[in-house]
Amino acid sequence: MAVIQLNDDGISVKGCSHIYAPRGQAGEYSPLAANPYRGCGHKCAYCYVPRVTKQDRGEFNAGAVARGGYLDQLKRDAVKYQLAGITEQVMLSFTSDVYNPTDMTLTRPSLEIIQQHGLAICTLTKGGTRALADIDLFRTDRDAFASTMTSLDDRFSQKWESGAALPGDRIAALKAFHGKGIFTWVSLEPTIDVEASLSIVDATHEFVDLYKVGRVNYLPITKTEDWRDYTLRMIDKLSALGKRHYIKKDLQPFLPTGYHNPLRVPQHH
Ligand code: SF4
Repeated sequence: MAVIQLNDDGISVKGCSHIYAPRGQAGEYSPLAANPYRGCGHKCAYCYVPRVTKQDRGEFNAGAVARGGYLDQLKRDAVKYQLAGITEQVMLSFTSDVYNPTDMTLTRPSLEIIQQHGLAICTLTKGGTRALADIDLFRTDRDAFASTMTSLDDRFSQKWESGAALPGDRIAALKAFHGKGIFTWVSLEPTIDVEASLSIVDATHEFVDLYKVGRVNYLPITKTEDWRDYTLRMIDKLSALGKRHYIKKDLQPFLPTGYHNPLRVPQHH
């Protein structure tokens, strides 16, 4: 029998390692997650994964590698979740990008296994239109597609995320999913340049359903930026446009008292 455990932000099934409830900052993104790969070829300069998972950054940046025996264990976990009656979205992924440039072999079968066992899917990616390979799997009433965006400027993106899809390609993917009726959201975390993040909202709000807004950690601007001003400008803009949003914990101290900031906005139509 599947043993359900209650966490701060949701539920998971005890003993499962490949479908799990992320904690801390990751837990703000999704109730459940799965990570088919080790390493990532997007080479984001701000990536926290090598530090958190104690991987050599050079090896991590060399590209994504499929985790051994991944699909069999994912299937075992998915069966347990189905037995427990859990139908939440599982987000792919936190420790790599499932639409990375080097290996996507596990992406589609992972999404299929998750769906076949009654769960829903969400992908968060900087892979841009590489994600269109799986657009047919996404269901309008269950699933979501998301992209992280830090700037609209190609040179900025190439400096900070040298292996990732360019901003215009990520926007093309968001438009394509939105055009198919799929729920879309954008992660404005990290915010490396506040004006750039504010401009992203201006450029994308017509085809993005939800924004998740954070700051950046471990960079000089973490200490020098006026995050209160950024938070207030961002919520003013999003509210004026009528866009749903979630302000992450790092920025919540700057929200007006009593500001409605639900953690789990339904991510489907
Ligand atoms: S896409 Fe994500 S996992 Fe990959 S390098 Fe960038 S921040 Fe790290």
